[in-house]
Amino acid sequence: MDNCIFCKIANGEIPSATLYEDEEFRVILDLGPASKGHSLILPKAHAANLYELDDETAGKAMILAKKMAGRLQKALGCDGLNVVQNNGECAGQTVFHFHMHLIPRYINDDAGLTWKPGTLTEEVKEEILARMKEQQ
Ligand code: AMP
Ligand code: ZN
Repeated sequence: MDNCIFCKIANGEIPSATLYEDEEFRVILDLGPASKGHSLILPKAHAANLYELDDETAGKAMILAKKMAGRLQKALGCDGLNVVQNNGECAGQTVFHFHMHLIPRYINDDAGLTWKPGTLTEEVKEEILARMKEQQ
């Protein structure tokens, strides 16, 4: 993909702080970290988002997330870790090349990855269950 910054970073055309690299992925430090050690898993092949990602890459990305989570925990001594993956502008996606965030968490940190819990009503629950059944 021309003009995709994460294609260029993942494939080494633009330098990055690389924590891991193999044939299919590069893991880099995020330049605007939510916490110390905030990293991004980038597949080298372009997919804009989760919907476009092929199953094999999706599987490997999660296995790599597990590996990197362990390494970050050991290296940095974090107390927890969030895996975040945004799809679409309204969901907070700003770079339209699939990536997974690994965000180490520390007791009393200020990373602020929270939401206001709503209420699952019976009506909405039944609607969703019915609509999702149609998708099977
Ligand atoms: P998202 O909002 O999920 O699309 O995440 C994009 C992330 O990429 C943000 O956390 C940015 O801080 C990060 N980012 C953008 N450009 C770069 C870059 N050149 N190198 C490293 N991280 C970047
Ligand atoms: Zn790309």
